[in-house]
Amino acid sequence: MGSAKRDVVIVGGGIMGLMTAYFLTQKGASVTVLEKGRLPCGSSYGNAGLIVPSHLQPLCSPANLKEGFRHLFNPVGPFSVSLTGDGRRLLWLGRFAAHCTEAHVARAVSVYRDLADRSLVLHDALAELGGSHYEYGRHGLLCVYASKKGFQAACEEAEALCRAGRPARVLEADALRRLEPSLADAVVGGILQEPDGSLNPSAFMTWLAQRVRDQGGQIAEETEVFGAEVSQGRVVRLRTNRGPVAGEQFVVAAGAWSGILTGRMGVRLPVEPAKGFSITYEAPLDALRHPLLLEEARVAVTPMEGALRLAGVLELSGFDDAVPLRRLDAMERDLTTFLPSLGRLAVREIWRGFRPCTPDGLPVIGRLRSPKNLLVGSGHATKGMFLGPVTGELLAEFLEGRSPAPSVERAVDPNRFAHLF
Ligand SMILES: Cc1cc2nc3c(=O)[nH]c(=O)nc-3n(C[C@H](O)[C@H](O)[C@H](O)COP(=O)(O)OP(=O)(O)OC[C@H]3O[C@@H](n4cnc5c(N)ncnc54)[C@H](O)[C@@H]3O)c2cc1C
Repeated sequence: MGSAKRDVVIVGGGIMGLMTAYFLTQKGASVTVLEKGRLPCGSSYGNAGLIVPSHLQPLCSPANLKEGFRHLFNPVGPFSVSLTGDGRRLLWLGRFAAHCTEAHVARAVSVYRDLADRSLVLHDALAELGGSHYEYGRHGLLCVYASKKGFQAACEEAEALCRAGRPARVLEADALRRLEPSLADAVVGGILQEPDGSLNPSAFMTWLAQRVRDQGGQIAEETEVFGAEVSQGRVVRLRTNRGPVAGEQFVVAAGAWSGILTGRMGVRLPVEPAKGFSITYEAPLDALRHPLLLEEARVAVTPMEGALRLAGVLELSGFDDAVPLRRLDAMERDLTTFLPSLGRLAVREIWRGFRPCTPDGLPVIGRLRSPKNLLVGSGHATKGMFLGPVTGELLAEFLEGRSPAPSVERAVDPNRFAHLF
């Protein structure tokens, strides 16, 4: 590692780390990103790539809690929790359950609305520069239903979305199949969430890393941060497998590992990993026109160039990286149930990743009280690919001494959990 002191040293080369580096280097700051893997990697590599301004609900909600209980003993359900082994996870689950109230959902939705509106503007602006390199498209997201009850409830939600200024078109079965002919006859209807879209995550990360380098940023791959030297309430340098790295300011954007890392710097953050899977298939270019959410299965299907990606499952089982075959089989069954005409597709890649999750379902973005020159950007759970740009912009602003609207700053303040420990 070069020994020159950098303005900002960022831990983690996922979307949060790279977006922060992007906005900082744009303004001429000297920035180094330290990444333990090789880019593109982390949860930002193999996710569904959905851009979802219409999905403002936090992970903790009464509906998800009910759904979680319903699937507690279902080995192939969309959610699972391992209750064994880890007392910390049980504590986290208790706090998560306590936030599953309508009042908290309403508060979180209003915070997510502000973040989503800004992130969409930034995604669109980035796409002007390089969208064709990473298949960025705002073609809407089709949420499809195999049950009448689910579709009816979705129609009511669609009305509420429209009232909130997010156009959502209700499609009965025939209209739906005209729009997406590969869908099975068993699908009873769908909602087209018009502002939404998708991108190819690994292509986006590769493009973004190149932009950061072009703007003068350094990205040190295969560089793992073990901890920090802290003196007089400030981080002086990070200790890595490639030697110490000094800086003025430091950002932990280490995804699901963020809590572990800040813990080694004396700051406890309740960020818990939630494992998910994706299966990418070789597929004809016209296999699907829109990204889909198979709502009952809670599986996303994203068309990519010459490929289709199935993504889903939320498993709270720590950093256990096992890939249970029954889960893959269940996802493949969902594909044949909803899209039977695609037939058997060849598998290109099977992947698992860890979403970073907080117990109140809101991200942690901002400066820590101590060490004073340490910031965090993490905890975006299921929405990180979408909210990466606004998070990078916010962190760059914090580093420049500017603050966002007080309501957003308070809601995402990483110090808000300090009283829990
Ligand atoms: C199956 C699945 C589907 C998803 N679909 C979507 C979607 O459609 N839309 C959406 O918006 N979001 C989606 N997400 C969520 C999204 O992927 C995450 O929220 C987002 O990628 C998190 O980004 P991050 O930068 O915080 O973490 P990561 O991308 O995980 O990056 C953190 C990086 O830090 C590195 N690191 C960790 N510890 C250290 C250390 N000590 N030293 C150096 N480096 C370190 C890691 O190697 C990693 O590369 C999905 C997630 C999953 C699992």
